[in-house]
Amino acid sequence: MADVPLDTLRADIVEVGRRLYARGFCASNDGNISIRLGEDRILTTPKSVSKGFMSPDMMVVVDLDGRKVAGDRDASSELLMHLEVYRQRADVRAVVHAHPPLATGFAVAGVPLDRAVLAEVITTLGSIPIAEYGTPSTPELPAAVRQYIRVHDGLLLANHGALTVAHEVFAAYYKMETIEHFAKISLAARLLGGERLLSQEEVLRLQGLRGRYGIASPASICLDDILEGGVAATSDATCQVVRAPDAPGERVVIGPSRTARWPTSPSAGGDEEIRLTYRQLAALVEEAVRKLQ
Ligand SMILES: [Zn+2]
Repeated sequence: MADVPLDTLRADIVEVGRRLYARGFCASNDGNISIRLGEDRILTTPKSVSKGFMSPDMMVVVDLDGRKVAGDRDASSELLMHLEVYRQRADVRAVVHAHPPLATGFAVAGVPLDRAVLAEVITTLGSIPIAEYGTPSTPELPAAVRQYIRVHDGLLLANHGALTVAHEVFAAYYKMETIEHFAKISLAARLLGGERLLSQEEVLRLQGLRGRYGIASPASICLDDILEGGVAATSDATCQVVRAPDAPGERVVIGPSRTARWPTSPSAGGDEEIRLTYRQLAALVEEAVRKLQ
């Protein structure tokens, strides 16, 4: 990154801000963008400016402790969250934070984007967890982000928005697009009765393709823990596992998801929950025992 002229990086941030605003990912002065310039220098967006109307000269240079080094304006109040990411991830050179409405809807509803549904999401982001709520611009938010960012490139922030990281700023922006697109598709699928999930076998196969696409960031799928289900804690980071049913031999698992809001075809052989009264259950057991005899 050191060989990219500073003026180009300033212009890149302006362009990413314009795209975030044009796509409705930020209202008013929401959102912030940053780029790592070197060991101890970060270029970032100023506070109190719409991301759709920035100019290159507005950017601020700060050190890793957030002290201003250059610029007429002050850095965004969410800078602490960006600095935490750079401290935790030596490979990260750009951070994008925005409030895309559908992804933020999932973050507000407390529903992580963790289902094995789309190949491109599994290969680029894996599972997208929700970092606990922290009051914006206080140290609470960096603390919540720290828990997941060592193993994830994209997070939802509870009751707030989303955060993405990458080796350069457009890649981080594209991950933001992918999260919002995924949220949109997930919402449509749930309104239509629930997602058909990819099998664990297929998830592992897709993860195997990461290397081919040159994706070298930490495996956000938590391969070691995939069979555990739910959230798996490692020594100093929490990894949200991609949720996929254990269905060897099948690539797409046919059937309504466990949380479908209303029942679809009862013929499906998925792992949906069924509810029986005690009397019905006793009758089933009795019948099974009779057949055995
Ligand atoms: Zn925000």
